[in-house]
Amino acid sequence: MSSPSRILLVCLLSLATFLLGAAPPPVQVTLQLKWQHQFQFAGYYAAQAKGYYKEAGLEVNILEAAPGVDVVDEVVTGHAQFGVGSSALLLSRQQGRPVVVLATIFQHSPMVLVARSGAGITSVQDLVGKRLMIERQADELFAYLRKEGVPEQTLTLVEHSFNPDDLIQGKVDCMSAYATDEAFLLDKAHFQYLTFTPRMGGIDFYGDNLFTSDDELKAHPDQVKAFREASLRGWKYAMQNPEEITTLILARYGERRGRAYLLYEAQKMNPLLQPTLVDMGYMYRGRWQHIVDTYAELGLLPKGFDLEGFLYEPEAGVRQINRRLIGAIVMLVGLGLLLGGAALLFFRQYHRLKGALASRDQAERAVQLEQQQKAKLEAQLQQSRKMESLGSLAGGIAHDMNNVLGAILGIASAHEEMEPDGTPARRAFETIIKAAERGGKMVKSLLRFAHQSPAETRAIDLNAILREEVELLQRTTLAQVHLVLDLDPGLQPILGDASALAQALMNLCVNAVDAMPEAGTLTLRTRNQSPEWVEVLVQDTGSGMPPEVLARALEPFFTTKEVGKGTGLGLSMVYSTVKAHHGQLHILSEHGLGTQVSLRFPVCVKEPSGPSPTTADLPGPERRSLRVLLVDDDELVQKSMEAILGSLGHEVHIAPSGEAALAALEAGFAPQVVILDMNMPGLGGRGTLPRLRLLLPQVPVLLSTGRADQSAQDLAGAYPLVTLLPKPFSIKVLKGHLEALGEPGQPNS
Ligand code: ADP
Ligand code: MG
Repeated sequence: MSSPSRILLVCLLSLATFLLGAAPPPVQVTLQLKWQHQFQFAGYYAAQAKGYYKEAGLEVNILEAAPGVDVVDEVVTGHAQFGVGSSALLLSRQQGRPVVVLATIFQHSPMVLVARSGAGITSVQDLVGKRLMIERQADELFAYLRKEGVPEQTLTLVEHSFNPDDLIQGKVDCMSAYATDEAFLLDKAHFQYLTFTPRMGGIDFYGDNLFTSDDELKAHPDQVKAFREASLRGWKYAMQNPEEITTLILARYGERRGRAYLLYEAQKMNPLLQPTLVDMGYMYRGRWQHIVDTYAELGLLPKGFDLEGFLYEPEAGVRQINRRLIGAIVMLVGLGLLLGGAALLFFRQYHRLKGALASRDQAERAVQLEQQQKAKLEAQLQQSRKMESLGSLAGGIAHDMNNVLGAILGIASAHEEMEPDGTPARRAFETIIKAAERGGKMVKSLLRFAHQSPAETRAIDLNAILREEVELLQRTTLAQVHLVLDLDPGLQPILGDASALAQALMNLCVNAVDAMPEAGTLTLRTRNQSPEWVEVLVQDTGSGMPPEVLARALEPFFTTKEVGKGTGLGLSMVYSTVKAHHGQLHILSEHGLGTQVSLRFPVCVKEPSGPSPTTADLPGPERRSLRVLLVDDDELVQKSMEAILGSLGHEVHIAPSGEAALAALEAGFAPQVVILDMNMPGLGGRGTLPRLRLLLPQVPVLLSTGRADQSAQDLAGAYPLVTLLPKPFSIKVLKGHLEALGEPGQPNS
């Protein structure tokens, strides 16, 4: 064939293919939105602009909501083929308007309640009696309020004006809002508010859904399928390219909302759509069932409402397989079974060989894994060693310091009483006492840091601590931080020291706020992680930590903050407190994204044991002189106690060690009270107490210690008539203890 005729042939052929294969003109369809153009509908604009609809053979007319337009009606009557609707689509179907949900875009509804902070509202329960501006469609909010014990009747409901100024100006105390939307205006006005989401109460509705009508689906199943797929493609693109789609919205759909507003919306939509975690459009029957159940509880749907027909099944068409195909499949399966039998024999041999190779492989990998794990364990060990050495250092200092402070406090308080009111000497003693008491508190916090805390242990509600924390933060932190409080109302109590825990949580909050100098969200969350553990999460959307910072974050004195701003002690204190509570600490941090610190504590199984049997339980005392045996190796303590006890009119005998005390008792000395120091060389308090109890079963013992920790409490609790006396103590405390002692009845009295 000559070259020109060949060219002609190619031309003719391409013309023919063009003519034969030319796409039919696009089909016109309408998508009715449920609100004005904004980022909320970004995926549809993207599908339009990127040509996805066109590729699907569709020309789509995207209509925003207008007054008097009901999206469901538009779709059911055929004015529009597709619509965007909330979870309330279920109600429409129940009301005889046959809608079919094609895809869920918002995995979680953005509907929340926002309340002005400082109006005495710290939890959703505080809304009782308040003015709430709420939209009629907010079923999930009504369900949530009801679940939290705030039913409609307890509120003053106000029609929604969709003007956040009403909240800002105090016309209402609380309003329903979109977390993606109104919050922008509130933040911009530097308005302080609290957010309550129904999810806190276990109510989790879907947000925006793409839907069509029964009729449309029946008439044009392929078109529906194509529209759905193109839309989801658009959504994927939009969530990956929010800046580009924002520019597009501004250019094509008007500038009613500025760029910053649209980008804010895009950012807030991320956690609700979860585009990276969940396939775009995914819906789960169980979640719809949960929504049905919630509606049923509200009396809006019958209990047995059937989801059949409501949920679109993209693959439903595949079921219509023809008979011949089935026949062929049966034959193929038969053949497959035969071949499979033969293959099985072969594979057995093959696997034996492969197994041998694999186990060698596995062994190598196991060695590798072990070496990682080893490195990790070593790092952990090093960390706890560091904390331990710091701990024993602090513990040692604290012990000696307590004795020094005890002496000062003792002598000063003994003399204070002797000086008449208002004299300079009296005032000087008062100041000395105050200073010593403050020193005692400092030692206490040092001990807490060294996790040998004299932690008072009582049942604690972590939710209550967090609520207080939030109140503090709201008074002090800057407006840029948005606070979310997500507390499990059924949170189990834990056993611990409330002030130490509050301090630890505050440290975490301060770190979070520091990490969000521009803007961000601080979320405080609690939950029952299992029947044995409760969890507190402190999450921020701040700077996050690069791996090298994360690796060192818990180290005492490690800080990346400028001098004067950071001490580097925050997280190590948190760590100590958590350890002292037999808890666990985990930090997840993603550089540039944020940080999540999780604290886990064992659930308090039984009520904390009441105070150990004390002398206070004994029958009514009369003030009288007591014979006191003081067992303490510290000369300062001996001298000051002698002064104090003397000033109270008691008779003091001093034994500088446990051994000396026992010797005196064996020699016949009969005290009426023993003050026994825990921390002494030799037998020490721990070794002396059981022997002393044998010799003097009835005599009250005050067990004095600078570390009133769990082991000291356990020791005191193990014997009758033993009371813990934490150092340093003031004369009043000692006096109280001694006055509470029982009537004679003791040997030799
Ligand atoms: P400080 O805050 O006084 O520096 P911390 O022990 O509290 O000491 O924290 C140590 C370091 O860990 C901080 O300097 C900071 O670099 C990092 N860090 C702690 N919490 C966060 C957080 N939420 N986000 C980012 N970085 C953090
Ligand atoms: Mg800190």
